[in-house]
Amino acid sequence: MPDGGTHLIAGTLCGAFSSFVIQDRLHPNEQLDPAHLLLSTAAGATVSRLPDILEPAVHPNHRAFFHSFAFGAVLGFGAVQVGKKIKEKRDQRKALGVDQISGTELLLGIVFIGIIVVIVHLLMDGFTRKGLPFI
Ligand SMILES: [Zn+2]
Repeated sequence: MPDGGTHLIAGTLCGAFSSFVIQDRLHPNEQLDPAHLLLSTAAGATVSRLPDILEPAVHPNHRAFFHSFAFGAVLGFGAVQVGKKIKEKRDQRKALGVDQISGTELLLGIVFIGIIVVIVHLLMDGFTRKGLPFI
């Protein structure tokens, strides 16, 4: 079973990796923005253990809704919606000829990364012997 340290490392790496991917896609020929990398990495580290904070491993069957496939599906739906909103905001900004990313886009990006990190947590727990409950 992945412990808190394993989830923290995975979430931190996932946050950093997400920053590399996002920056490469949005600004392929520009230098890496260290502030974005730091923010994404910190966001990943911060939410990496969220399901275990909401449902602490106090007994072998501690996994309930926040460790379920249903919660994973809700998160997946949320990630798609946030992704659409980011694209919409980016298109609006580009239509106005503004290159500088807005605070809303940045916030939505951090939320998107947080959702992905929690999904990674669920995937890691899902591949254990106990697996995840459906609901
Ligand atoms: Zn967990």
